Amino acid sequence: TRVHFVPYFHRVIDRFELTKKENVSFVRNFPDEKIIVHMDEDKITQVLDNIISNALKYSPQGGTITFRVEKLESDIRVSVKDEGVGIPKADLSKIFERFYRVDKARSRKLGGTGLGLAIAKEVVVAHGGRIWAESQERKGTTIYFTLPIEQQKKG
Ligand code: ATP
Ligand code: MG
Repeated sequence: TRVHFVPYFHRVIDRFELTKKENVSFVRNFPDEKIIVHMDEDKITQVLDNIISNALKYSPQGGTITFRVEKLESDIRVSVKDEGVGIPKADLSKIFERFYRVDKARSRKLGGTGLGLAIAKEVVVAHGGRIWAESQERKGTTIYFTLPIEQQKKG
């Protein structure tokens, strides 16, 4: 279906605003333009739910989570940035593998199965997008993904 991406993303984040810890703040950095994405809304919501729950799970007290949408030539780039524990360089490419979890002890305490990002990757790739992570230990993590946008007709 055709989804007007920015208002859709607002709705997803609003749902988390209602349930999150009060000491974490959300910042949204979205363009004003109308951006249409052809996507399976339930599946992309599952992707965002996992990325946002991870960001909340690893955020410190008083941390900020920054949501960004950027319009590129033929894609949008969506990112979710946290100020949490971060991910060691050696693990960065592996977090999208099934059952991969950084630091078993830490992850066990926080719960989860290690499937969330593997599913996210499958869904994003099936939509013709890419997903990746940037991170600095003790500084935070940013998860990025792209999705193709509907091209404006010329003329
Ligand atoms: P599930 O999503 O299945 O409940 P999970 O959250 O452990 O379990 P993924 O979402 O696939 O699994 O994430 C894989 C691993 O990547 C996590 O266990 C964690 O070690 C690391 N990780 C993911 N997001 C972050 C983040 N924002 N900050 C720090 N580490 C992260
Ligand atoms: Mg997860």
